[in-house]
Amino acid sequence: MTKRFCPHCEDDTNVIEKKVSIPVGTEAFSARTHVCKKCGSYELTPKIRKEMDLWGRSLTKNVVEPQPVFSEATHRFAEEMAAQFGLKRVPFFRVLTAFYLNRVVNRDDFQELKKFCDSHAPRKLLDEGDRSKVSVPIRYLMYRKLETFSEVWTVSHAKAIEEAVLFGLTVLSCREENFEKLRVIADSLQQYISEIAQAA
Ligand SMILES: [Zn+2]
Repeated sequence: MTKRFCPHCEDDTNVIEKKVSIPVGTEAFSARTHVCKKCGSYELTPKIRKEMDLWGRSLTKNVVEPQPVFSEATHRFAEEMAAQFGLKRVPFFRVLTAFYLNRVVNRDDFQELKKFCDSHAPRKLLDEGDRSKVSVPIRYLMYRKLETFSEVWTVSHAKAIEEAVLFGLTVLSCREENFEKLRVIADSLQQYISEIAQAA
């Protein structure tokens, strides 16, 4: 075997090949790879990532269960909106999170949209009432997306879900808005929810 270089220790004397346990939420994936005995860092090759994705997709349980906190008004509004699509509140939170992570955060105008929604009137209404938390069980694929988002923006999984839900609810509540861009997003969000609701 060729000697590997540890990027952290800037040294190749401690790198060996062995089995490691890679944490994925509350689960762990084991793989054989190059590991630095000194600092514990290991190499995640594209092949291992691919195997991990296959393993993750086949998992039938949740890998994390963040607990976002929402106001009474948000819980109530989410319940009503979810019912319109024939969904329960928690699965609805997951759909809004998926839409946000898959379709919103990668847009070039993400910051502009976020700023608009944060300062928008319906958004203020969503802050009314006592705040309480809710458990949102998350499966592997969404966990991967949440993890990436959380790392980039240094927020917890729960905070990321709060942000996604408030964004989605604000968008859904201002459909007749002059802000053309937001109307288009609202339409695509509605379609997204309908498709998932039908598949559920
Ligand atoms: Zn090292």
